[in-house]
Amino acid sequence: MSDCIFCKIAGGEIPAATLYEDQDFRVILDLGPASRGHALILPKEHYANLYEMPEELLGKAASLAKRMGEAMKKALKCDGLNLVQNNGAAAGQTVFHFHIHLIPRYDNDKVGLGWKPGTLTDQDRDELVRLVSSEL
Ligand code: 5GP
Ligand code: ZN
Repeated sequence: MSDCIFCKIAGGEIPAATLYEDQDFRVILDLGPASRGHALILPKEHYANLYEMPEELLGKAASLAKRMGEAMKKALKCDGLNLVQNNGAAAGQTVFHFHIHLIPRYDNDKVGLGWKPGTLTDQDRDELVRLVSSEL
């Protein structure tokens, strides 16, 4: 994708602080970090979102997230780690090139990733189980 910023960063055309690189991925520091060490896993091939990602590459991304998370835990001495992966503007996606956020968490930090829990009614539960499972 010629006008995709993450294609340009992943391909090395635009510089970014790179924590790791291999033939499939580049892992960079986020320019607007939620916390110290916030990083992004970018595939070098353009896929807009989770739905477009080939399963094999997605598996590699998950393995890399684990490896990066372990390295960041040691290096940054963070107390926790959130993996965040947004799909669609409604979900907060702003760059439409698949990426996984690695967000180190520190005790009592003020990073806001939470939600207010609702209620799962019996009727909704039964309908949701039927609706989703019938599409698999
Ligand atoms: P999204 O909201 O799409 O899940 O996340 C996009 C992320 O990319 C944001 O956290 C934003 O700070 C980061 N970002 C956007 N443009 C750039 C850039 O040019 N360089 C880097 N390193 N991060 C970027
Ligand atoms: Zn792209």
